[in-house]
Amino acid sequence: MKWHDYTGVIHLHSAYSHDGRTPVPDILSAARASGIDFLMLTDHSTLQARHDGLEGWHDGILLIVGQEISPRFNHYIAFDIGIPILTPEDGVPPSPQTYIDEVRSRGGIGFIAHPDHEGAKLFHVKHYPWLDWSVTGYNGIGIWDFMTDWQSSLKSLPSALFGYFFPALAMRGPRQATLERWDRLNQKERIVGFGELDNHDTIRKIFGLRFSVFPFERVFKLVTTHLLTEAPLTGNNAQDIRTLLSALKDGKAYVAQEYFQQAKGFSFTMTDGNRSSTMGDDILSRDPLVASVTLPSKGKIRLMRNGRLHHEAVSRRMDQPIDDDGLYRIEVYLRALGKYRPWIFSNPIRVGERT
Ligand SMILES: [Zn+2]
Ligand SMILES: [Zn+2]
Repeated sequence: MKWHDYTGVIHLHSAYSHDGRTPVPDILSAARASGIDFLMLTDHSTLQARHDGLEGWHDGILLIVGQEISPRFNHYIAFDIGIPILTPEDGVPPSPQTYIDEVRSRGGIGFIAHPDHEGAKLFHVKHYPWLDWSVTGYNGIGIWDFMTDWQSSLKSLPSALFGYFFPALAMRGPRQATLERWDRLNQKERIVGFGELDNHDTIRKIFGLRFSVFPFERVFKLVTTHLLTEAPLTGNNAQDIRTLLSALKDGKAYVAQEYFQQAKGFSFTMTDGNRSSTMGDDILSRDPLVASVTLPSKGKIRLMRNGRLHHEAVSRRMDQPIDDDGLYRIEVYLRALGKYRPWIFSNPIRVGERT
């Protein structure tokens, strides 16, 4: 099957957020200049962008309006929920299971946001991690959050300035702890991995100088999520939103950093002679399988099985026979400016039963 690949950005804040600044039309212009196909907007505690008629296609970009549920900890982004889910500003924070369940009961989908966010003490950036891992019923977790990643450069003024002006060079990739947890959770049930931008275009003052963190056009390529669909999008707002949300829910997705090189053209399939499966699929085939990876340009391809390196090659293509059951996913590192840098992280293909 030939999949249609759409490049998007998930989790971002507009002027509809109390801590956001950029009006949605300006965000759309910046996305257009960055080659983005869709945006999943997640303002804090509001779906006002939808009420103002902004959801839908805008000259080649599909805007999907969700919300971020953001008490002090355990931030959750949700789509297709009808009206916003509000949490009290003060008092005892709600148990995250209550809003996970609320999203499900409305027929929506929800995702744990920036689970390993650490903040930056030196610059008074608070930490916003996910703390309650006893929860169930969510659809996925953010595996690579731009804010978590670049804020790790805020350890000293020189490294902060470097990280601000060259965020693509400061980025380190998904946290190891995040990936390990994701692999573990996926053994039991499908937990979709996606990329987050979480940009607010906030103004921060350092030594009296004003810095925007970040102008959208500077960061749109830094963490993207690609969604794969069986049929091309049609131009019909409601239908295309349904198609992309269901691709996300099914894990037909990979995450990329596209500052140095675009990722479109990446594919990861498992073929048993008759049938080809891709990211998000479960296979129960007894026939011999081959895992195939194709890249738009050469990279270091790491085929991971149950979280461990199974096979590695520096190439544009990999075809690797698969003998054992397990959870297989791909990491690709791109050589740019003298070193290998994190580029593409796929959702897994499951071979065999979940344990
Ligand atoms: Zn958040
Ligand atoms: Zn956010």
